[in-house]
Amino acid sequence: MANDVLASEYGMLDLKDADHAHADHLEMYVRGRLESRYISVVEDHLLKCGLCRADFFNCIGLHLIRGALGKTKSDRPERRSEPRFEIEDEAICQILNPFSVDRQIVKILDISENGMGILAPYPAPLGSIVQIRAANTIKLGEVRHSSMLGDKGYRIGLRLHVGF
Ligand SMILES: [Zn+2]
Repeated sequence: MANDVLASEYGMLDLKDADHAHADHLEMYVRGRLESRYISVVEDHLLKCGLCRADFFNCIGLHLIRGALGKTKSDRPERRSEPRFEIEDEAICQILNPFSVDRQIVKILDISENGMGILAPYPAPLGSIVQIRAANTIKLGEVRHSSMLGDKGYRIGLRLHVGF
């Protein structure tokens, strides 16, 4: 009886597996493309399920590898029309690995081909993977350095992974 209730509850949310997050949902979450009504469901589950967090980190890893591979095939003309980050833009920064549901508003300080510097209210652990989103642009980046910038906050240097 309890299982029936659980199954129908999750069925309404369109999760195929009643016990775990749907792989497609994890994928979409990493890409910043998950429908908003599923976001809190996925987040709640990731916070309590180590198995799904492992799948999630694996999914992030695959994106980073694909991004690195994509970069070797440079000068693809369609890249020019991609939305881009601009200096001084505000962006939303969320640490995906280690997983956190906290988001902070950051300011983009500088941009290079493979990296970006942001000003953030809070520091980020070295080596953590963050998702940066501004307007229609979403990127994954790895934290390479993080240091206090006077009383303004923290300057965080990211290595960006292209290839979404
Ligand atoms: Zn799970």
